[in-house]
Amino acid sequence: MSEFLDVEDLFASKVFTLGKMKERLPKGTYKEVKKVMEEGGELTPATADVVARAMKDWAVENGATHYTHWFQPLTGITAEKHDAFVTNPDEEGRMIMEFSGKELIKGEPDASSFPSGGLRATFEARGYTTWDITSPAFIKETATGPTLCIPTAFCSYTGEALDKKTPLLRSMEALSRQAIRLVRLFGNTEAKKVTPSVGAEQEYFLIDAKKALQREDILFAGRTLFGAPAPKGQEMDDHYFGVIRERVGAFMHDVNIELWKLGVTSKTQHNEAAPAQHEVAPIYESANVAVDHNQLVMETLKRVAGKHGLRCMLHEKPFAGVNGSGKHNNWSITTDNGINLLEPGQTPNENIQFLLVLACIMKAVDTHADLLRQSASNVGNDQRLGGYEAPPAIISIFLGEQLEDVVSQLVVTGKADSLKEGGVLHTGVSTLPDFVKDATDRNRTSPFAFTGNKFEFRSVGSSDSIGSPNTTLNAIVAEAFCEAADRLEQAEDFEMAVHDLIKEYMTEHQRIIFNGNGYAKEWVEEAARRGLPNIPSMVESVETLTTPKAIRLFEKFGIFTEAELRSRAEILYETYAKSVNIEALTMIDMANKQIIPAVMRYANVLAETVIKVKEAGANAAVPAKLLDTVTAKLAETKDALEALENAESVASSMKQGKEQAFFYHDKVVTAMNALRKPADELEKLVDKNYWPFPTYADLMFEV
Ligand code: ADP
Ligand code: MG
Repeated sequence: MSEFLDVEDLFASKVFTLGKMKERLPKGTYKEVKKVMEEGGELTPATADVVARAMKDWAVENGATHYTHWFQPLTGITAEKHDAFVTNPDEEGRMIMEFSGKELIKGEPDASSFPSGGLRATFEARGYTTWDITSPAFIKETATGPTLCIPTAFCSYTGEALDKKTPLLRSMEALSRQAIRLVRLFGNTEAKKVTPSVGAEQEYFLIDAKKALQREDILFAGRTLFGAPAPKGQEMDDHYFGVIRERVGAFMHDVNIELWKLGVTSKTQHNEAAPAQHEVAPIYESANVAVDHNQLVMETLKRVAGKHGLRCMLHEKPFAGVNGSGKHNNWSITTDNGINLLEPGQTPNENIQFLLVLACIMKAVDTHADLLRQSASNVGNDQRLGGYEAPPAIISIFLGEQLEDVVSQLVVTGKADSLKEGGVLHTGVSTLPDFVKDATDRNRTSPFAFTGNKFEFRSVGSSDSIGSPNTTLNAIVAEAFCEAADRLEQAEDFEMAVHDLIKEYMTEHQRIIFNGNGYAKEWVEEAARRGLPNIPSMVESVETLTTPKAIRLFEKFGIFTEAELRSRAEILYETYAKSVNIEALTMIDMANKQIIPAVMRYANVLAETVIKVKEAGANAAVPAKLLDTVTAKLAETKDALEALENAESVASSMKQGKEQAFFYHDKVVTAMNALRKPADELEKLVDKNYWPFPTYADLMFEV
């Protein structure tokens, strides 16, 4: 019998929630905080002091000795620098724990060791973190002891964003302003704010930690760089939604407890398609908080895995030949009076506001498909996008049968009189109820799918921050809303104007809609005919950030300056080059020190066998043939290794930047693939006792 777990009590117990503020702050102070949270602005220094004291008292009651400004530099993960609440002792040597409003609101971490892409030279180290009042403070419980974490934005001395949060917050404000203009046109005078909501499904792999430690590629690159497929993969579809094994279940249970304490609404968990692959998803919330929470989800998965003797792999493609991991980013936009602008209602064909929003999103995604693609690219995702059961690198929208039909009618006649109904699903069993089915089936191959009352952006990589994809989504939709509002606000006959605008946008951007199989080869050709961009890799997507179109978009809405965009592009090239360099060096190391010596040991045994069998006067054809094959593959491996060593040494001596990144992509990655091939073939031939590290079968089937 399990003990009763009081989840209601546990939930958000480590979060300084509004409820706790209400309890602990004087009424006036609480009101001021709430107002700033909802409407923006700044706390007065006196108020900040009061809030800081209450926050510190709560943290200390929960065992905290330290606080940290918790931020999200452009490394894609989070950063923290702990300070104790300790102050100078008085004459009698007594020390009082303190935390001031100034310390709450502003921090000054040395910024020189974070990527800045040339925005800041190393001697200009000053960077500031500022409290993001819209995301609640929380206590992280690790071996360091409980630490009060204050979510912050991170900027340079000159005010440029050095993080993922600042542009996201800017994009949310831009989207809100433009969306409000639209809803006003439809007579909504109540709404003051529109917020993008995000629910991020997180996929991951779990393997045994001890086995992981035996593989340098997993340690340094987070994925396997060698490895022949196991005899069994995911072809039986027996892992997806399968019974959760005991060891994994115990891990999931602890993950949930930790996440609930942090106020993360961990809701759904299941086995994913590939062996050893799983998923966890929280309930959606404001984009900003969702981004922070997703970082906590990733951190928690890794930390709890360690406690269970497991290793959580967040890489987009840890194992070749089976599914990779993504992070489906579910996105919708809701007014503060509770209207989801993506809710079609029972009769979407008559819902003009919905159709306008849909037309704007079609326009946004079609106009900026390149940027959306870029926002979901990272080094690991290059292995996944377009790969085994992953959304293709071509951005398109799935609307489903019903909405696609509405769009077609609007495009052809300017009216949508009829509506395809979902109909009734007959189960054929008298004791099972018949039910009304959705008007739209699912399509798992689309990178950007409409799923009822939200869009699901599926390209995002599993290890990536969801900051960038949501910043881009908010920005491009804000632009489309703005252009629509500019026209409609001037219109003499609103009804005519909105009707014309919907028809125009849908006609012009209909090419972005694709309801077919996104994994099919034919789609690549069809997309090319439609003129849709197909950007296959991360390095090729970087340039999309600095096109005149992108600069105009991001500057117009104050989301990125041109300098910020250029710095981000630089960082992406650098990150790519560094990551591939680590992978190449790891492969070189494993080949030189592990694979080749192991194969030689095995070849030696074969050679001795040949000699001994012959001496015994028997037929040595089999060991001789095997020896020939193994030594031939060994020679191939050695040649490929030398080619990789050469490519790597040229690459690492190049000047940092675009050219170097492309060289890594074109030459080094190609040489890595060429080395992997004969090495994996050897793995299939060599006696398992000689193979120097755990195989795919050991890693994926033994947890
Ligand atoms: P799937 O069947 O797509 O795997 P899941 O239940 O695993 O669905 O995840 C769906 C995610 O979408 C959850 O995080 C859920 O909270 C989120 N979601 C649901 N409705 C909305 C919405 N209106 N806006 C944003 N996210 C939403
Ligand atoms: Mg799911």
